[in-house]
Amino acid sequence: MKYVSTRGSAPSLDFAGVTLAGLASDGGLYVPAQWPRFTHDEIAAMRGLPYSELAARVMQPFVGDCLTPERLRELTAKAYGRFAHAAVTPLTQLDERQWLLELFHGPTLAFKDVALQLLGLLFEEFLAREDGSLTIVGATSGDTGSAAIDAVAGLDRVEIFMLHPKGRVSDVQRRQMTTVRAPNVHNIAIDGSFDDAQAMVKRIFADRDVTDTHRIGAVNSINWARLMAQVVYYFAAALQLGGPDRKVAFSVPTGNFGDVFAGHVAAQMGLPIERLIVATNVNDILHRALSAGDYSAGEVTPTAAPSMDIQVSSNFERLLFDVGGRDGIALAEQMRGFESARAMQLTNAQREGASALFTSMRADEDDMARGMRWACEDCAEIVDPHTAIGLHAARVAELPHDVPVVTLATAHPAKFPDAVERATGTRPGLPARVGDLFAREEAYRELPGTYEAVRDHIVGHSA
Ligand SMILES: *Cc1c(COP(=O)(O)O)cnc(C)c1O
Repeated sequence: MKYVSTRGSAPSLDFAGVTLAGLASDGGLYVPAQWPRFTHDEIAAMRGLPYSELAARVMQPFVGDCLTPERLRELTAKAYGRFAHAAVTPLTQLDERQWLLELFHGPTLAFKDVALQLLGLLFEEFLAREDGSLTIVGATSGDTGSAAIDAVAGLDRVEIFMLHPKGRVSDVQRRQMTTVRAPNVHNIAIDGSFDDAQAMVKRIFADRDVTDTHRIGAVNSINWARLMAQVVYYFAAALQLGGPDRKVAFSVPTGNFGDVFAGHVAAQMGLPIERLIVATNVNDILHRALSAGDYSAGEVTPTAAPSMDIQVSSNFERLLFDVGGRDGIALAEQMRGFESARAMQLTNAQREGASALFTSMRADEDDMARGMRWACEDCAEIVDPHTAIGLHAARVAELPHDVPVVTLATAHPAKFPDAVERATGTRPGLPARVGDLFAREEAYRELPGTYEAVRDHIVGHSA
C-alpha cells in the first residue's frame, strides 16, 4: 500500500513511512493511494471475531508488506489486551433504535486510547528495524496528551514532550499526564492557550535547528495510523447490528474530524453505512461547511465539551481531497487560500461528494444537557458531555425508521464530573483502574509562552 499527500507534491511513502512521518513535507496529510475494498462475503465472515482479530483483518490491507499478518495480530492482541472490557468497544442499547458504542475502556478513559495504544507499539516496531529514535512533540487540550503519554511511557526509542496550556485542562486530565513517571515523558505547562501551544508545535516541526538533529514525530490525528485503528470499531458495531446485510448510521462527536473520517474510510472499504452524522458544539465550522459550504474559522468558544472546542479541523482536508476528485495540486492552492484568509468556500464537487454520506448537526449547551438528562432518566446511562452532543444529533437526525443509530461514546463521564453533575445531579466516580490518581505526585515543567523557551527545553532535555 502506497500513501500520497493531500497536497500532491510530497513523495509517496509506505505504511511504516507514514507512521513515523506525521505531516507530509508539502504540508498535506497522507492518505492511501486507493481504498482497499472487502466484498460482502468477506465482511460477513468477520462476524463474531474477537476485537483484536477483527482489528488485524480490517487493518492488514493498509499495512501492506510492512508487517506480516502474524506480527500484526500480535500487536493488536497486545494493544487491546490493556482494555478493561473483554469486548474492547462494547455496544449498549439505549432504546429501540439508539445505541452507544463505548470507546472509553482504555487506560485513560477516552476513545483516543483505541488508536494510541497501537500507535505506541507501531513506533517501537518500525524504529527498531532502522535502529532509530523518535522525539514526539505534541500539544493537548486534554485527552490526546494523556492517551499518548500512556501509550509511549517507558518505550526505549521514543521520547515525548507534551505541552498543555497552564490552568486550562481539567484536574483529571492534567493528573493523567503529570503523574506518569517515566524517564522518556516530559510534561510542559505553558503560559498561553491551546492554540499558542499548537502553534509552537508547528514551528518545531519546521525548525531546522531541531529537525537536523532530532526526528520529530506526531501523535495527533494527522497521523494516518491513528485513523486506521479507528476504522475497526465501525466494523465491530455494524457487524453486531446486522451488517453487512443491514445499514447502520453513526453519530460522532467531532472536533478534528479524525474519528468521523474513519467512518468514511469504513464506508469506502465496503461497510454499508446509511449516514455519518457530524455532531458539533457551538464551535460549528464543520456544521457550516457541510450544510452551507462555508468553511470559515471564528474564535473558539470554550464549552463543557473541550475536546470539540476547535475551529480548524485538520482531517477535513482528507475528506475534501477524497470527495473533490483527489487533485492534490488544486487542493494545495485552496488550502493556501484558507490559511491566509481563514475562510474558504467548498467547491460544488466537494459539497456534493460530502453530502452523499455526511449530515451535520450543531448542539448548544442546552441540547448537550438535555442529551445527558435523557440518557440518565430514560435509559439509566450516564454519558459524558461529548457523547451527549452525539446523542442529541442522533435523536434529531432524520433517518429511515429501520436504521439503528450508533452514537460513539468518546469519553468516560468521570473525566468531566462537574458538567455531568450539573446536568444529571449524579457525580460519576473514577473507575478503579485509574487508581489513586489524586494521591500520586505530579511532575511537570512550567515555561513562559515563548517559542524559544519551549524549543530550548526540548533540545536540552532530549537524550
Ligand atoms: C478527541 C475527542 C473528540 C473529537 O474527536 P476528533 O477525532 O478530533 O473529531 C470528541 N470527544 C472526545 C471525548 C475526544 O477526546
